[in-house]
Amino acid sequence: MEQLELLYEGKAKQVFATDDPERIIIRYKDSATAYNNLKKATIVNKGVFSNDISSMLFRHLADAGVETHFIERLNERDQLCRRVSIIPIEIIVRNIVAGSMAQRLGIVEGTRPSNTIVDLSYKRDELGDPLINDDHAVALGLVTYDELKQIYAVTRRINDLLESLFDSVGITLVDFKVEFGRTSDGRIILADEISPDTCRLWDKQTGEKLDKDRFRRDLGKVIEAYEEIDRRLKSLGK
Ligand code: UDP
Repeated sequence: MEQLELLYEGKAKQVFATDDPERIIIRYKDSATAYNNLKKATIVNKGVFSNDISSMLFRHLADAGVETHFIERLNERDQLCRRVSIIPIEIIVRNIVAGSMAQRLGIVEGTRPSNTIVDLSYKRDELGDPLINDDHAVALGLVTYDELKQIYAVTRRINDLLESLFDSVGITLVDFKVEFGRTSDGRIILADEISPDTCRLWDKQTGEKLDKDRFRRDLGKVIEAYEEIDRRLKSLGK
């Protein structure tokens, strides 16, 4: 398998074509951004840990029957994945209220709601990724109601699987974001990444934040947090 031209460069990853039109290489970079690109930095080795963590999590989900774009981790920074067309919706799952939801609704961060909350946001940087609902998503032509139903069902399963995986290594899965893509034969599968860039992960004992909030909020020890998540997941032999 041969790496060909750069197809796309995002904030944290590059995507390369390969000699197989159905396969791409995703390269994890060390750049970190927050607040819609207002805050930027390089965090040395973040890409290495995010690649490793996302690979372990996608393998875990695939083992449980969740269909994903992930094929294999190629090296420290690269993954081989199935080519999909990303649906421009961020699906955000909240087990505990934090971040933008705490701010927007005036709820103390750390409050556990009676129900799991799923938010949709429209992936459009120039609009600041606005929150949308099912009707907006369908009216925008992004998905059908049936596709949304499937996406919600898979997302809830992902939440159950990841919550118990993280719980087994002493971590609370506070919230996370997933993205889905369409394959050339029209299937909707899990894509993008799941890492401390896209999750809030709190140590169960101490409450310490082990995710990108360390960067967003200038808490220090950013790479140490990613390394700790990597180390704990590795201890499970994933
Ligand atoms: N998230 C993400 N990408 C985004 C927005 C959110 O990965 O563009 C993740 C974020 O890391 C957190 C969860 O989704 O784990 C909920 O984020 P929130 O809506 O609270 O936004 P934030 O506080 O990050 O602005």
